[in-house]
Amino acid sequence: MSQVKRLFWFRRDLRLADNHGLYQALKQGDGVQAIFIFDKNILEKLDNKEDRRVSLIHSFLQDISSQLSEIGASLKVYHGYPSSLFKEEIIRDFPNIEGVYCNEDYEPYALERDAAVADFCKTKGISFKAFKDQVIFHKNEVLKADLSPYTVFTPYANKWKAALEDNPVLNYPSETLLKNFVSSNYNLPSIEDIGFVPTSFQVPKKKVEQSLLDNYAELRDRPDKKGTSKMSPHLRFGSVSVRQLALQAINNSAAVYLNELIWRDFYHMILWHFPHVVKGPFKKKYENIPWRNNEQEFELWCEGKTGIPIVDAGMRELLQTGLMHNRVRMIVASFLTKNLLIDWRWGEAFFAEHLLDFDLAANNGGWQWAASSGCDAAPYFRIFNPESQAKKFDPKGEYIRKWVPEFESLNYPAPMVDLKNSRKRAIEVFKTALS
Ligand code: FAD
Repeated sequence: MSQVKRLFWFRRDLRLADNHGLYQALKQGDGVQAIFIFDKNILEKLDNKEDRRVSLIHSFLQDISSQLSEIGASLKVYHGYPSSLFKEEIIRDFPNIEGVYCNEDYEPYALERDAAVADFCKTKGISFKAFKDQVIFHKNEVLKADLSPYTVFTPYANKWKAALEDNPVLNYPSETLLKNFVSSNYNLPSIEDIGFVPTSFQVPKKKVEQSLLDNYAELRDRPDKKGTSKMSPHLRFGSVSVRQLALQAINNSAAVYLNELIWRDFYHMILWHFPHVVKGPFKKKYENIPWRNNEQEFELWCEGKTGIPIVDAGMRELLQTGLMHNRVRMIVASFLTKNLLIDWRWGEAFFAEHLLDFDLAANNGGWQWAASSGCDAAPYFRIFNPESQAKKFDPKGEYIRKWVPEFESLNYPAPMVDLKNSRKRAIEVFKTALS
């Protein structure tokens, strides 16, 4: 493939349209080959070989491959450790490349991976170019007046919106330059080829309907309604452009929806500036909470058998679909960390294993918010009462009935803890540990 001059490396940006890094690669002219790596550093950590995310990624790669095949191009897929692959196979397969293009990824592992690949490219005189694509504003683009990062959401969101005035959301029409891909005919490996088992999952539509945006502010907290966009798996893997969603929200004055996209940027910004959150609390003094960490209780929570209907509904929705409504994520996380006094990192890891939309920044942000240890978190004494939450947000019990059909029968277990006493216990434990 001597005519290949540039590689575009797909990662969490699995689409051909409005893809910033891809646009930059194709804009240079012809000779672009697309690659994807099934990364063993990540896959080897997945114990469950029926991981839904692997099947989801595979389906997005299939979409890309079939679109490329219409123009006589294809995606070259590797399976291995990115750094060694670049040094050994990729450079051998494409000896004449002058550049590797991709989009930025801000997770600590990805930063290390990219630094290693960029270093290798440098030794070969190959440029390594990464572009902002995954978020609207990144790293240091939205800072306080003294150039320090925000740690509270509302002023961050205000500055974020003000920053749009000078930096309108752009479109990178990579889809108009696809002719610059080289002709190639690589086959996509199967899911079994990479050691996994195909799994069923439902991919949400890639489009947000206008009616959803119109009713979003009113319905977004209602798990019993179709009130949220279900864009999170698409945003996670980049099968939908965040710029496209932000523009849709801006053009339709959907301020509440835009606000959620700003939360997403906020947590990515927090992870970038405060990578210690991956291992421990954002607020150091929360290191001292004496978690009870009862393994049997954790098991009941994981299985959706707590005897608290809204908690069980959420956990069973997660186990069956890989998703959970945001309001219910907050309820189950509050229940685990406060009523059961189980370390938020246990819940975070369980979500990381099961969520189709698992995203390190948002998941960590959500868990630390619920555990009160996060940057702009719920105060420790604000403990959701799952029963009143259910009454308010699932008034007819439709959501609960869907996932826990037996909840009104004798087969349903009694609550595993007394909500009032466990709330009191949590407040005392937090208060003592933080004083
Ligand atoms: P919509 O309400 O339609 O929102 C649109 C988009 O905005 C979402 O797709 C998402 O990208 C973003 N968004 C919405 N709420 C938040 C939020 N609170 N924080 C950050 N981004 C947000 N989101 C993930 O994408 N991955 C996770 O791993 C994740 N883990 C979470 C863990 C906990 C404990 C909590 C409380 C929240 C978590 N969230 C996570 C945030 C939120 O629950 C999901 O983004 C949302 O439920 C996805 O559904 P949706 O696409 O229908 O959201």
